[in-house]
Amino acid sequence: MMLEVPCVDTGNVLDSRPVSVKKGLKCPPVLLFGHSDHSPNPKHEVNSVEHKQHFRVVIVGGGAAGISTAAHLVSAGIKDIAVIEPSDTHYYQPFWTFVGGGVVNAEASTRPMASVMPKGVEWIQARVERFDPDNQRVTTHEGQDIAYDYLVVAPGLQIDWHKIVGLPEALGKQGVSSNYRYDLAPVTWANIQSFKGGNAVFTFPPPPIKCAGAPQKIMYLAEDYFRKQGIRDKSRVIYYCATPSIFSVPKYATALTGQVIKPRGIETFFRHDLVEVRGEAKEAVFRNLQTAEDVVQPYDLLHVVPPMSAPDFIKQSPLANETGWVDVNQQTLQHSRYPNIFSLGDASSLPTSKTAAAIRAQMPVLTANLLASMNGGQMVAEYDGYTSCPLITAYGKLILAEFDYDLNPKETFPFDQSQERYSMYLLKRYIIPMIYWDGLLKGKRWPGFEIGP
Ligand SMILES: Cc1cc2nc3c(=O)[nH]c(=O)nc-3n(C[C@H](O)[C@H](O)[C@H](O)COP(=O)(O)OP(=O)(O)OC[C@H]3O[C@@H](n4cnc5c(N)ncnc54)[C@H](O)[C@@H]3O)c2cc1C
Repeated sequence: MMLEVPCVDTGNVLDSRPVSVKKGLKCPPVLLFGHSDHSPNPKHEVNSVEHKQHFRVVIVGGGAAGISTAAHLVSAGIKDIAVIEPSDTHYYQPFWTFVGGGVVNAEASTRPMASVMPKGVEWIQARVERFDPDNQRVTTHEGQDIAYDYLVVAPGLQIDWHKIVGLPEALGKQGVSSNYRYDLAPVTWANIQSFKGGNAVFTFPPPPIKCAGAPQKIMYLAEDYFRKQGIRDKSRVIYYCATPSIFSVPKYATALTGQVIKPRGIETFFRHDLVEVRGEAKEAVFRNLQTAEDVVQPYDLLHVVPPMSAPDFIKQSPLANETGWVDVNQQTLQHSRYPNIFSLGDASSLPTSKTAAAIRAQMPVLTANLLASMNGGQMVAEYDGYTSCPLITAYGKLILAEFDYDLNPKETFPFDQSQERYSMYLLKRYIIPMIYWDGLLKGKRWPGFEIGP
């Protein structure tokens, strides 16, 4: 039986609000849109002040964290904000699991950066390289110094592809892919479709990673697809995971094991870390983290999730803690040593699961505290570690995990969210993307609706 999983584009309605942009602060801004392949509207009004090098608030990174913070500050009446962001494109990464599972096109996860940049914010299209917090300045790769009164650091994290021997060479070829890269998520779907039986192997590295559910979600979609194609009895579906259990929150771990892994015959190897990919031989080498022995696993399909860390320029900066992340107070999101610096999202040291959903809870706390600080006051808001992981368990089924710093469930709906549900799948597929584009990125927190992207 053929599975109907049409590639549906969500139909991005481009927002054509005026935005100002500067590239490295050097070029005449009006020329800059000529460089962007994704400029949504040639009539964009360009109103940047040339060579302005000081801002009331500078935000590093125009991802989920940076754009939502900028938008909220604008709506709170703050003027003189710059977002430093090198990319022409904004990515809705939570869609990449659906791209890998053939549910949406990769393009459905993108919008031109200019279209999500809040009106009135100065977009400096450049890459930050250095921080000088004592002199309240950042320096870009292009050599520009930009001064600030307040700094929000949100450049996301770095994926360390190179830390797995042979992986960079093997990626995208001979059955190897990863949903953690925009261009490779469609390769995952191609690999799933061309798999005719054998070993389908999925990996999870030592944490922290972003969206700790994504490595297993794609496995559940693939397994469901193999079953519907009638090739499940010719296939082994194998999960190698560096952590000791399938999920950090016991309630959802029990549900995943009992409702999904055992009944569907998925094989799990915990405390095993991928150390090498032998692309030619189609072998993956895993280190048993308890015995230090290496296990060689032949594969026909390999979905890799590599280790992740703070971006190098953060690790090497005075803003980092001992593990490299931006060192912030886990309740207030204020920097531990520099009171005029805040951080949220994947780059921050906040000890919760790194998700866009978490950012939805972090952003209102950060902005409330930043505004209080601007008014000379004390911190007024606290973050409890809320995060969410919509665990897609099949086409049309989802367990909605929501929890806090203490791994206590913090569920939105008045039913047991650890049960697989079609309604929650529809929420993830259709409603949460709307919350992302039209709520979070506009700086809003929709009342009474706590779940995030
Ligand atoms: C496959 C996958 C599935 C996921 N599924 C989910 C899910 O179901 N639910 C969920 O909530 N989350 C999910 N996530 C996680 C979520 O996408 C991230 O947690 C979120 O995007 C983090 O936002 P951020 O703004 O911190 O970083 P990002 O969104 O990564 O943005 C960082 C921005 O900083 C910019 N930048 C980088 N370096 C510099 C620099 N030197 N100077 C200036 N700017 C810089 C980048 O260009 C980028 O635009 C998923 C992620 C992946 C990859």
